Amino acid sequence: MKKILIAILLFSYAYSYGQDFNLLIEAESFKEKGGWLVDPQFVEQMGSPYLLAHGLGKAVNDAKTTFEIKANGSYYIWVRTKNWAPGKWEAPGRFSLKVDNFLFPEDLGTQLGWSWQYVGHITLDKGDHEMTLKDQTGFDGRCDAVYLSTKKSPPPYDAEKLSVWRIKALQLPKEPALEENYDLVITGGGIAGCAAAIAAAEQGLKVALIHDRPVLGGNASGEIRVHTLGIYGHFERILKMIDTEHYPNGSPKAYDEDEKRLKNINKCKNIYLFLNWRAYDAHAENEVIKYVDAKHTSTGKLRRFSAPLFADCTGDGWIGFWAGAEFMYGREAVDTYGEEWEKHGELWSPDKADNFVMGSSVLWRSHKVNSALSFPEVPWAVEVSENYAASNGEWQWEFSRNDLHQIDDAEQIRDHMLRAIYGSFYNEKQKVGNDSLALKWVSYLVGKRESRRLVGDHIYTFNDARNNIKFADSVVVEEREIDVHFQQNLLDADKPDFLSKALFFITGRYYIPYRSLYSKNIKNLFMTGRCFSCSHIGLGGPRVMRTTGQMGSAVGYAAKICKKYSLYPREVYNQYLEEYMYLILSSNEN
Ligand SMILES: Cc1cc2nc3c(=O)[nH]c(=O)nc-3n(C[C@H](O)[C@H](O)[C@H](O)COP(=O)(O)OP(=O)(O)OC[C@H]3O[C@@H](n4cnc5c(N)ncnc54)[C@H](O)[C@@H]3O)c2cc1C
Repeated sequence: MKKILIAILLFSYAYSYGQDFNLLIEAESFKEKGGWLVDPQFVEQMGSPYLLAHGLGKAVNDAKTTFEIKANGSYYIWVRTKNWAPGKWEAPGRFSLKVDNFLFPEDLGTQLGWSWQYVGHITLDKGDHEMTLKDQTGFDGRCDAVYLSTKKSPPPYDAEKLSVWRIKALQLPKEPALEENYDLVITGGGIAGCAAAIAAAEQGLKVALIHDRPVLGGNASGEIRVHTLGIYGHFERILKMIDTEHYPNGSPKAYDEDEKRLKNINKCKNIYLFLNWRAYDAHAENEVIKYVDAKHTSTGKLRRFSAPLFADCTGDGWIGFWAGAEFMYGREAVDTYGEEWEKHGELWSPDKADNFVMGSSVLWRSHKVNSALSFPEVPWAVEVSENYAASNGEWQWEFSRNDLHQIDDAEQIRDHMLRAIYGSFYNEKQKVGNDSLALKWVSYLVGKRESRRLVGDHIYTFNDARNNIKFADSVVVEEREIDVHFQQNLLDADKPDFLSKALFFITGRYYIPYRSLYSKNIKNLFMTGRCFSCSHIGLGGPRVMRTTGQMGSAVGYAAKICKKYSLYPREVYNQYLEEYMYLILSSNEN
C-alpha cells in the first residue's frame, strides 16, 4: 500500500491553506485505468491529458485510484469535465464518481465546455481512501481531474490561471530537474521520426526519440491504421524496417507492423526511446534551440533533452512553433506561388488565401457478430450524420472548415467525426438485416493530414513537382500522384460535411531538396514529415509516409555530417553537399 501511495502522490497533491485542506488528483494518473484511455491529444488547448471512456456505446470498466486525506473533514468535490455534444438530449458522455462506497448521484460530463462540475460533498477521515470513475454510456465521457477541498470553492476556470494553479496545486517543479544530453533530439515518432532516428543512430549519433503515444508509427500505427504509400527512394533498407504492407486502411494488421517497427527501433542501441512523453516546450537562444522539455502523459514527470541538433517530426511543427521558427498555415492564394490548375480552379488553389487545409480523419470499422445486438439511440450524433448510413469509414471520412484550425480546434474536429460515425452507424443499424452489426473499432485519435508547415531555405511547391525539377540536393524522390482533398459539401450542399474527395494530378518523378528539411531561421532545427517546408499544394504528394520516411532518413544522414564537422544544417548544403549526397546514395549499402 505504501508503494501505491507514493505512486499516486506523484501526480496528486494535498495541500492546506490555513484551516483548509485540498487535494487535486489528475485522472490520467489513476492507478487502474480500467477501460478508460489516456488522451493527451489536446493538452495545448485544454491543459492536460485526460481519461476518455471510449467504449463504442458500451460503458467501459471503472478507473480506480487511492488517495490520502491528511485531516478529518467535510470535503467538497469537483471534476473537470465537459459535455462534448451539448444539445436538447442527455449528454452522451455521462459518468459518476464513487468515493469509498458512496456513489454520488450527480451525472457528470454534462456541463458546457471544459469546466469544474460540482459532484457533492462527503465526510472523510484522515487516512487512505478509494476513488472510482464509473462510466455510464461508453460514449466518450471525459475526466481531466478531481478536486477535493474543505472549502466550497472550485479551482479556476480560466485556462491560463488554471495552468498556473495546477502546477502550484500539484507542487510540480517549474522545470525539469535533470538535463539529458544527446547528439540529436527527435520529437514525434511517426514514420518520419522513426526513419530519422534509425538513420542517425546507424551513423553513430546518440539519439533521443520522444513520442507522446505508447506505440510508434503515427498515422501508420495500430492506433490510426493508415498504410504507408510512396516509393523507397534511396532508403529502402531503412524504410522496410518501419513501413507497412498495403492492407486496407483500418486493418488490424497494423498491430503486426507496430511490433516490427518497435523491434527494429530497439535494435538500434543508440536510440533512447521515450514513449508516452509529450514535448511541451522548446527553448531557443539566438535562434539556436538549447533544449526541449517533455512531460510524461500519465505520471506528469518532467524531462529536459538538450542537444546541438533537433528534429521536428511532430506533424504539427510544435518544436519549431515553440522555438520561434517561421511557419505557414492554410491554403495560399493561387498567385502566391503560381499553383493554378485550371481544370479545378478554386478547389485546387483559391484566389484568396484561406484555412481550408486538408482535413483530419477518424477511421472506423464494424462487423457482423453471431447474435443480434442493440445500439442505443444517439440523437446527439444523428444531428451531425443526419440520414447518412454507413458501416465503416475510410480516408474520405474527413473534416475541415475554413473557421476551424486543425490544431487549435482538434478536439472539436475529432468529436464532430465521432458524432458522424456513431450517427451513421445508428442509421445503418436500422436497415433490415443489420441486427447483428456491431462496431468493432473506432479510433479515438484524430489522424491529421495538414497543419503547420515550417519554412525552410526552399519552399517546395506544386511547380517543383509538375516541372519535375531535379535539384543538386535532391534527397527525396517520389512518383506518387499529387492528391489534394476538399470537402464534398463544397460542391454539393446536400452532401455531409464530414466526407471529402481527392483531386489527383499525375506528374511522374519529382524530387525534394534537402533545403526544405531545415528551418530558415532556427539554425539547428530540422523538420521532416508533413511539417516540412512546402506550400499547401506542395504537400499534396510528399505527405505520404514512405516519402516522409525518406525525408526522415535524409535528415538522419545530414545530422551525421553536422556532428562530424560541428555544423548547423544549412552548412551541410553550403559546404559538404558532395559528401552528404554520397552518404545518401550509399544508404542501402550501410
Ligand atoms: C485518414 C488518412 C489517410 C491517409 N492515407 C494515407 C495513405 O494511405 N498512405 C500514406 O502513406 N499516407 C496517408 N496519409 C497521410 C499521412 O498519414 C500523413 O501525412 C503522415 O502521417 C505524416 O507523417 P508524420 O510522421 O509527419 O506525422 P504523424 O504520422 O502524425 O506522426 C507524428 C507523431 O508525432 C507525435 N507528436 C505530435 N506532437 C508531439 C509532441 N509534442 N511530443 C511528442 N510527440 C508528438 C504524434 O502523436 C504523432 O504520432 C493519410 C492521412 C490520413 C489522416
